[in-house]
Amino acid sequence: AKTQVGVLFGGCSGEHEVSICSAQAIAKALTQGANADKYLVLPVYITKAGVWQFGDRAAQVLQSGEPSTDGDETAKPGDRLPAPQPLNDIDIWFPVLHGPNGEDGTIQGLLSLLQIPFVGSGVLGSAVGMDKIAMKTAFAQAGLPQVKYVAVTRAEVWSNPCVFPKLCDRIEEALGYPAFVKPANLGSSVGIAKVRSRQELEAALDSAASYDRRIIVEAGVEAREVECAVLGNDVPKASVVGEISFESDFYDYETKYSAGQADLMIPAPLPPEITRQIQEMAVQAFQAVDAAGISRVDFFYVEATGEIFLNEINTLPGFTQTSMYPMLWQASGISFDALVDQLVQFGLERSQPIS
Ligand code: ADP
Ligand code: MG
Ligand code: MG
Repeated sequence: AKTQVGVLFGGCSGEHEVSICSAQAIAKALTQGANADKYLVLPVYITKAGVWQFGDRAAQVLQSGEPSTDGDETAKPGDRLPAPQPLNDIDIWFPVLHGPNGEDGTIQGLLSLLQIPFVGSGVLGSAVGMDKIAMKTAFAQAGLPQVKYVAVTRAEVWSNPCVFPKLCDRIEEALGYPAFVKPANLGSSVGIAKVRSRQELEAALDSAASYDRRIIVEAGVEAREVECAVLGNDVPKASVVGEISFESDFYDYETKYSAGQADLMIPAPLPPEITRQIQEMAVQAFQAVDAAGISRVDFFYVEATGEIFLNEINTLPGFTQTSMYPMLWQASGISFDALVDQLVQFGLERSQPIS
């Protein structure tokens, strides 16, 4: 029988539309060529409101004090949590959700509870990979090079007018200008500001606090932006390295999603030794956050000094036909269709009980 793949897309996130594009490309790849004989796609869409519904059988147990095994014997995976769709035939889920409520471990937690295999990182890898403060802590622990940064909370920004100037002093002293102010748990450059003065820093902190309780401020570097794709579970592989070039001040939302504003160079024109180091660090970054299956790892390369700084990991990177992740594998000898096939197989492999 064909493997039924639940393609889970949309989601309660600012990257809803990107998710739809990625899901279209993945669903198409699963149902064409050699994959057509192996897979059936069952699309499951989560609206922007992101509503999941729940039922109840608990009142009886609560009242009697007696545990119930009612339905345990016959329960199919979809019965474990009452869900708004008939999901029992799904063999493996493919979450194609970017950003909060999908890339961050929440959906992965739900799927783990349902005990159905899924593609990509589990709860830990997804959550650590999403939160830029947690991610950087894990990278630092692994000895990976990063730009200087300061972790900030919303409370420090908003609660006490005496604390705020001291916080800004501390940031200025530690990082100087330019600096980047980022909400810790977003993607696609949403909410990120490049600041060049005290006034801009104050405004950006205030704005970032409206997006997230957790904020990170980083020293800005003048560097080339290079990315490496990682694929696999316990012995992950790194792809060729790609580079993004653009005219805008930094790789902001508009540059990312407007046609013609950014160029991808695959492979990136880099000295072989730099490429090798980036590939090695990409795998180390993947392992540092306990990622699985898929990730794109992004770097800053300072040509003048030869320095490489790890910027971030994305555990569910953009996955359209023109996205960096599948294009890097294409250039490494794995076609789009074969890549999607491999990702499903890695998801199934990860869910096998230890024998
Ligand atoms: P996201 O997860 O939203 O993609 P990033 O941390 O990758 O957030 O930041 C988005 C972009 O902002 C980067 O691709 C880069 O262009 C710019 N940027 C972020 N941090 C720095 C930094 N420390 N120095 C220079 N540019 C940066
Ligand atoms: Mg990101
Ligand atoms: Mg990024």
